[in-house]
Amino acid sequence: MPFLPENIFLKIISGELPSKKVYETDQILAFHDITPKAKTHILIIPKVELKTAKEVNLENTELFGQLFLAAKIIAEQEGLDGYKLHMNVDEAGGQVVPHVHLHLLSADYKSNL
Ligand code: 5GP
Repeated sequence: MPFLPENIFLKIISGELPSKKVYETDQILAFHDITPKAKTHILIIPKVELKTAKEVNLENTELFGQLFLAAKIIAEQEGLDGYKLHMNVDEAGGQVVPHVHLHLLSADYKSNL
């Protein structure tokens, strides 16, 4: 699937589009996926505009690390003992929304890894 023509997550960050938020800091936002692929399916995103994880560099590694920190905190909040983290990178990697996001999924998620 190609990238969606619009970065809908920027509209979620600005509040223009509604979302079921579960966690927020000055740099990170997390909310329930609109079409959950597991009992718990949460998207964790940076508030700054980064299209894909290919944009990681030595200046923003701390921000990328915060996605993992948020995942740990949210998993505890949600009562998840173990969980799965998934990130699609770029169109060829299955990414559809052109804004970096980490999928936090409960263990019932059926991945084919
Ligand atoms: P990707 O395939 O880009 O890694 O995942 C994008 C995810 O965003 C999909 O799981 C999809 O269900 C979710 N999504 C797409 N549009 C919206 C939306 O408007 N709100 C929310 N909460 N999730 C969305």
